[in-house]
Amino acid sequence: MTELEAGVTPGLVCAHHHLYSALARGMPAPPKVPTDFQGILEQIWWRLDTALDLEMIRWSAMLGALEALENGTTAIVDHHESPNAIEGSLDVIAEACAAVGVRSLLTYGITDRHGPDGARRGLAENERFIKAGGRGLVGIHAAFTCSDASLRAAADLAEDLGVGVHIHVCEGVGDIDAPRRLAGLTRDSWLLSHCVHLPTNHTLRGTILHNPASNLNNAVGYADPARFSNPVALGTDGIGGNVLETFRLAYLMQRSVDVTCGPDTAWGWLETGWNLVPEARTDEVAWTYEPMDPWHVAFTPGIMPRRITIDGRVVFADGRPTLVDADEIRAKAREQAARLHARL
Ligand SMILES: [Zn+2]
Repeated sequence: MTELEAGVTPGLVCAHHHLYSALARGMPAPPKVPTDFQGILEQIWWRLDTALDLEMIRWSAMLGALEALENGTTAIVDHHESPNAIEGSLDVIAEACAAVGVRSLLTYGITDRHGPDGARRGLAENERFIKAGGRGLVGIHAAFTCSDASLRAAADLAEDLGVGVHIHVCEGVGDIDAPRRLAGLTRDSWLLSHCVHLPTNHTLRGTILHNPASNLNNAVGYADPARFSNPVALGTDGIGGNVLETFRLAYLMQRSVDVTCGPDTAWGWLETGWNLVPEARTDEVAWTYEPMDPWHVAFTPGIMPRRITIDGRVVFADGRPTLVDADEIRAKAREQAARLHARL
């Protein structure tokens, strides 16, 4: 490897993101301080997602995609929910990612929290988007917010469309029944996010998505993904799009329970992202640091991209995106955040 090549990697893949959460920063405090994960969902995320409209979703996705690109992430695997703006929401997110220049693999997470019609419309959005040529998976919020009929319908639709399913699994103790509820439905193409409370000897198939920063923030516990035989990939769960930072934290968390481990395992999880969006392997990120090997990166905070090429096109150079105006995106996102926060 030459000196120059040593500071170059393929584009990074964020294997679990929620672009709709980019406008949550600075939102008003919830009426009641949540004391557990269920409370965090009810008091924060389920109030935020019901308030979203398509214009908010657009600028939230633009900001999230911009911040991902600014950190060398060229592909985003997103999990979206907006119960009062379902139809067309995946197109809006796909357009935002394309405008910034990043690749996307999208899903609408269905739920029965708003009645069976909400789940039906969520499924229809997945089907419409994928049949129209969109790059997507079928989405389920989580087993604990869906009926058995909805879980089966989503699995059947994914099978019909020849794609996987993207779902939250055992993130908190409230979803402890997920392995039983999903038994027989999962496939290797499924993406199982979190799996903090998933027993080591489970029978679910699919790639496990590890989100260490989010798990710490929600106090749900440590997933310890090294214990699983499934492939493992890294996500942010909506806390930015910085996959190198996620790798560093994943390594430190593993180290906190196993002082003999090195960073190679967590680096392998980062590399699993390329199985989910293989084209990202052909993207090129030239970094401010070399060599980009696991031991160096694990102990070098603040590594930034210098130049990013996606699909042969330079989309980032000299510290800024080339296809969009970062200042304009931040200004529009602030406007939409003010509208969103006023509704909460
Ligand atoms: Zn999530």
